[in-house]
Amino acid sequence: MIVESIRKLGFRPEDIKIIINGHAHSDHAGAFAFFKELTGASLAVMESDVAPMEDGGKSDFHYGADWKIMGFPPAKVDRVLRSGDIVRLGDVVLEAWNTPGHTRGSTTWVSTLVDSGKAYKVVFLDGGGFNPGYRIAKPPTDYPGIGDDYRRTHHFWEMQKPDIWLGHHTEYFDLKGKRERAKTEGVNAWVDPEGYREFVADKKRAFEDEVDEELGVPKPAAK
Ligand SMILES: [Zn+2]
Repeated sequence: MIVESIRKLGFRPEDIKIIINGHAHSDHAGAFAFFKELTGASLAVMESDVAPMEDGGKSDFHYGADWKIMGFPPAKVDRVLRSGDIVRLGDVVLEAWNTPGHTRGSTTWVSTLVDSGKAYKVVFLDGGGFNPGYRIAKPPTDYPGIGDDYRRTHHFWEMQKPDIWLGHHTEYFDLKGKRERAKTEGVNAWVDPEGYREFVADKKRAFEDEVDEELGVPKPAAK
């Protein structure tokens, strides 16, 4: 499906040079081994996700024991990224920031896009959401320090002030709606600093609610 979609958009999958990721779960990394084989592209992954990427999710802190839930064909990592590293191809420059929580190596990508002489800051976020069953506050947590990781990730996101934001599930940022509006509004359809702030605030609130829930903090009575 992905190969056909790439062709439909007028590109050649064989031209892919670098593969990057948000985090090492099957719904994001599941096709990497296939695409490396097809394209010979090099795979660049944040250092703390290298192990699960290369063992197909068996070392994932949450799903490792039942790795088939989020597991995938292992893919060899060609370039190990550290937080703040740059991935560059032609005019495209991407900063890779480690935003752990969802996985240890979750990565938020930051870039600048220039359109008609105007520069737009772009943030492609990942890592700040938890799945059902994650233990983020009450010992034994999924890993020591997971709660601190989530809080640092949310704070990192708050400090970014993107014009354009994207995420690893398209409904987060309304890909369909924005694409539709872009037909008449051009790049302006993608500019959405308010939507970004709301998304980050929602993720942060959901996290703190989950912490309260796990720790049994009483809720104020609804009025
Ligand atoms: Zn995931």
